[in-house]
Parts: sequence; structure tokens; C-alpha cells
Amino acid sequence: MTTVPAADPLSAVPRVRVPAWAWAVAVLSLMLMYVVLQENGAVFAQTAEVIHEFTHDGRHALGVPCH
Ligand SMILES: [Zn+2]
Repeated sequence: MTTVPAADPLSAVPRVRVPAWAWAVAVLSLMLMYVVLQENGAVFAQTAEVIHEFTHDGRHALGVPCH
């Protein structure tokens, strides 16, 4: 009995080169999402209340608990 080697599952997936600017946009987007959704003074202690109030309605619209 012979065994057939399993095909490499990744060989069927075409490789896509992601440009550096797309990675930069992704990182900046994650940082912006943190500021809008989670920042409560851990990073921006001086302006935490301003940021919180500025994004307050957006937080509630997205279902993020804030108080
Ligand atoms: Zn709130």
C-alpha cells in the first residue's frame, strides 16, 4: 500500500504582496480605534476627559461601555 503525500494546503493560496503603506494605515487605524473606543486616561492623561467627551456618543453607538 502506498501513501499519497498530502498536498500543501498553502500552495493553492495565491501570495499577495501587501505594500508598506497598507501596514502603516492598519497600524494607524488600530491606534485611532484605541483612542476612540478605549482611551480613558491611560495614554493621554491630560486630555482624557476631552477625548472621552468628544467620542462619547460614538462609543455608545458602537456598544462600547464607557461608564
Ligand atoms: Zn457614556
